Amino acid sequence: MSQSSNPSPCFSNEKKPQYNYQNAATTPPPGYPQGPQYISQQPNSVVLSTKPGFKSQLLFCPSCQTNVTSDTEFENGAFAWGSAFCCCILGCWLGCCCIPLVVDNCKDVTHSCPNCRAQLAQRSRL
Ligand SMILES: [Zn+2]
Repeated sequence: MSQSSNPSPCFSNEKKPQYNYQNAATTPPPGYPQGPQYISQQPNSVVLSTKPGFKSQLLFCPSCQTNVTSDTEFENGAFAWGSAFCCCILGCWLGCCCIPLVVDNCKDVTHSCPNCRAQLAQRSRL
């Protein structure tokens, strides 16, 4: 009794699972940029859009390209003349009407550069 058995099954064809990493992440990691770093810092310039005050202040002179402390000049503007006119109408014409023309608080202010005398800003009382 000879049993022809084949007790050695061939499992050689069984494929092992291969972890085939595909070229999914072959891009090199991005290095740090070594270029010049642009620091988001605004230039230290005074914008003239803000209303200047009635006292000397730090303003940017476009002629000198620098920030200067403005010189202030008081001039008799519409408010000073209007106040003087009102004083005349109210009867204060014996000299009181000249008070608005003398008091600096009633005058317009002109900011000018102390270096080049350029007019930087103007502030009216009205
Ligand atoms: Zn200037």
